[in-house]
Parts: sequence; structure tokens; C-alpha cells
Amino acid sequence: MFPGDDDKWHEECGVFGVFECKEATKLCYLGLYALQHRGQESAGIVSFENGNFYVVKDEGLVSDVFNPENLSYLKGDTAIGHVRYSTTGSNNIHNIQPLYAETSKGKLAVAHNGNLTNAYSIYKKLRENGALFQSTVDTEAILHLISLSPEKTILGAIQNTLAQLEGAFSLLILGEGFLVAARDTYGFRPLVLGKLKDSYVIASETCAFDLIGAEYIREIEPGEIVMIDKENGLTSHRIPKTTRKALCIFEHIYFARPDSHIFGDDVHMVRKAFGRVLAEEFPIDADLVMSIPDSGNSAALGYAQASGIPYEIGMTRNHYIGRTFIQPQQKIRDLDVRIKLNPIKSVLNGKRVIVIDDSLVRGTTSKQRITAIRKAGAKEVHLLISSPPITNPCHFGIDTPKREKLIASQKTLEEIRKHIGADTLGYLSLKGMLNAIKSQAPEDFCSGCFTGKYPLSIKNKGKFSFESKKIKLYAQKN
Ligand code: AMP
Repeated sequence: MFPGDDDKWHEECGVFGVFECKEATKLCYLGLYALQHRGQESAGIVSFENGNFYVVKDEGLVSDVFNPENLSYLKGDTAIGHVRYSTTGSNNIHNIQPLYAETSKGKLAVAHNGNLTNAYSIYKKLRENGALFQSTVDTEAILHLISLSPEKTILGAIQNTLAQLEGAFSLLILGEGFLVAARDTYGFRPLVLGKLKDSYVIASETCAFDLIGAEYIREIEPGEIVMIDKENGLTSHRIPKTTRKALCIFEHIYFARPDSHIFGDDVHMVRKAFGRVLAEEFPIDADLVMSIPDSGNSAALGYAQASGIPYEIGMTRNHYIGRTFIQPQQKIRDLDVRIKLNPIKSVLNGKRVIVIDDSLVRGTTSKQRITAIRKAGAKEVHLLISSPPITNPCHFGIDTPKREKLIASQKTLEEIRKHIGADTLGYLSLKGMLNAIKSQAPEDFCSGCFTGKYPLSIKNKGKFSFESKKIKLYAQKN
């Protein structure tokens, strides 16, 4: 996303692509369904058949946007799709991905997950040279750069374009008879390759393959460009640039689904390992271990197994809170917290409870949850977080608020403990967390949100806010 103020330029997304497969768009729809947790604001699919591109996209959940009618409109056996989360203010119809354009290298559609950190300088240069922009997403700059590239071949133009981008991108490009999948040289966001019979499929996470019955083959490597076409099948190329690896640790902590395999590990297993280390770092005498569902489930299980303290369901979650939930006029106390999570009194009453959650961001919801657990009768509440204190915003695609709103950047551990009303507050150490992952070296992760040390320097940080001057467009539902 083009950088607006710090509150606006973060984007969490999921992408899915399928090349030459019967019922491609239906598979794409199912793939997006499995990736819904990566973005709930908008969804889109672009398909290709006989020189034509077909586009369906709108605001809303995958199940809101697509229906049998518009899915049958999406013709072709090759398609890419996108789900997007964007914070308030930047969700206009032009920003919904995949973006489609007729470039000097042919018709192209792009779906992008991540955040480009030099988007504004690229945008400014292109604008000075007369480029017209429809959207305020950084993805549009990618299309311009490909179109303007002096390279003659599409692959050369893509290589040349991706080498100019800084920051995070896991992206899919659909062209006239080819599909490209590429991942930035740092490898911030996941991107995986699979096979469904003889067809290739690509997704942000493997949980999308499980749903459609595809077989996981491997990751798209950091810095890799995979080109799939009829003539040559799958060929692998490189972005002509070398950097360190910087896999986003927050994918393992919170963002990815626990049933996915990313960065060489099963996410659930990694979270359980975090819980085990948490048990070593914070041995506490208590009656039960519970999680904040669903984000704390795996780590709480790990803690319980390592400590021998029984695991209990202390809270249940209502999964059916859509965007349309209307707050009743009269003020009902604690409605916000109770609508989503409700404590189970008979489990908690009179008990010393260890509560595990994956992260503390603003501290707002945690405070409400601790209050609710106490009200349900818990005698002691010990909150343990399966990641370190978040003290800095993410610039690479995770939605964290600006620094001033991050509770750990404003208060000491003791102040936070008091603020949220817990008897104990403990955070997993950075070292403990990174060492719990056996398949990757600790230095191969980006932990910038915990350390403030980012793998690359951030340009134009919080300096521009042209996002606010957007076109308001009525989005007609198909
Ligand atoms: P808070 O107590 O207000 O800091 O909220 C903490 C909760 O927010 C935890 O349960 C996390 O699982 C959840 N969380 C962390 N990061 C995000 C994110 N990027 N988007 C939505 N929820 C998040």
C-alpha cells in the first residue's frame, strides 16, 4: 500500500493461483475461502480464457463476494485470487485486488501480499513522468514498472521490476497464457507451490491446498520467480538482487493458520514449542491452563503438556460475528468482549488460572478478557504471552498500530500488568522464541516488531497521506 500515516498503510492479504486446471475459478474460490483469515475486507478473482480476462471483485468476505452466478461468469482454466484486509480509510473499489491492466507487455493481472517500503518514491517518479494511477495500492506501481521496462521479454520485465522493489511481496501475475509467482528476496510473507493432478497451484499457505485436495510440493524460495506456461511447464528464475532472509516471525506467532506448513514448519507445532518454552521460562503453580481462543490454543497446549498442569476450556468463542453486527443503541456493559468470547464459570470459579495468548498489542482486549475471567470467579489470573513485547510497528504487511498505541512501547512490564489487571504477566523471550524453531536460523527471521531492528531501512515512514484524498465509488454487488 502506498504509505499514508502509520495507521493506514498496513495490509494483510492472501493470494491463490491455479494454472490450467478444470474448474480453476471454483478451486480459486475454495482456496480463498481457506485463506479468509488473511483478509476479510475484500476478495477478488481474475480468470483467463482465449485472450479474455474475467474479473469479479468486491468488498466483503469470500462468501459475500462470490455466488454461483458470478463464479460461472469467471471463465477459463487459469485464475488468480486475492483476499485483503485493509485498515479504515483505504478500502475503495479501485484498491481491490487482483489489479488488471493492459500493459506494453500484454494484459496482466496482479495479486500481491505484503508492503513495499519504497512505494512512494516509485509512485512519485512514475507520476512525474506522466503515469496515471487508479488506485492507492502499491501493487499498481508494479504494473507500471513492468509496462515501462526496457526489457523485451515478459520474464525480463518482471525480473527488472522486482529488483526495483523494496519491502515485502509474495505475488502472483496472471498473463495471457502464463502464471508467475514471485517472492521478495527477504521472504517476508509465505508462498507455497502445490500440484493438483497435473496442474500447478500456488497459495499463501498450505491450508488452501488441503481444502482442494492438492499436494504440497515446496515453498517459492525467497528471491525466486516461478514462471508456469504451456510451452515450458514450470521454470525457476531469480530476482537479480541479494539480501539476507527475513521471514516474518509474526506469521508463526499469530497470522498463519495453525494447520498450515510455512517456512519449513507446521505452524501448530511451532506455537506448541513456544508454549513449552514459556513453561520453562515461567513455571507457575496453578490449577489449570487455558487459552484465549483461538489465537492462544496451540501455545496453551504446549504449556500444559510441558508443565503437567491440566488444559481446560475456560472461554468459548462465537465464530459468527460478521461485519454487519449492529451495536444496540443502549449501552450494555462489556458487550464488545462478551459478544466474541464468553468465560465458562464452572471451569474458572475458585481456580488459579494460567491464561495463554499469542500477543499483546494495544492491551485493550486483554484487559477486558482478564476482567471477564475474574468475574467468572477465577481466584488468580496469570497471563503469559507466547511472543515478546511488541514495541515497534510492522512495515512489511502485518497490521500493527503506530508506536504510541503499542502498550509495550509506552509502559513497563509492571505497568502493563497493573493496567490489564493480571496477577502475573510474562512474555516469551526473543531468544527462547527464535530458538524454539529448529528448521531456520534465528537470524533468518524478521523480528523488527520486537526489536525495532528492521532488515532494511524504511523510507518515507509516515510522511505521506494522499490516501485520504480518495475517490468514493459506489461498489455495485454482482
Ligand atoms: P490487545 O489486548 O488489544 O493488545 O489485543 C490482543 C489480541 O489481539 C490477541 O488476542 C492477538 O491474538 C490479537 N492480535 C494480534 N495481532 C493482531 C492483528 N494483526 N490483527 C488482529 N488481531 C491481532
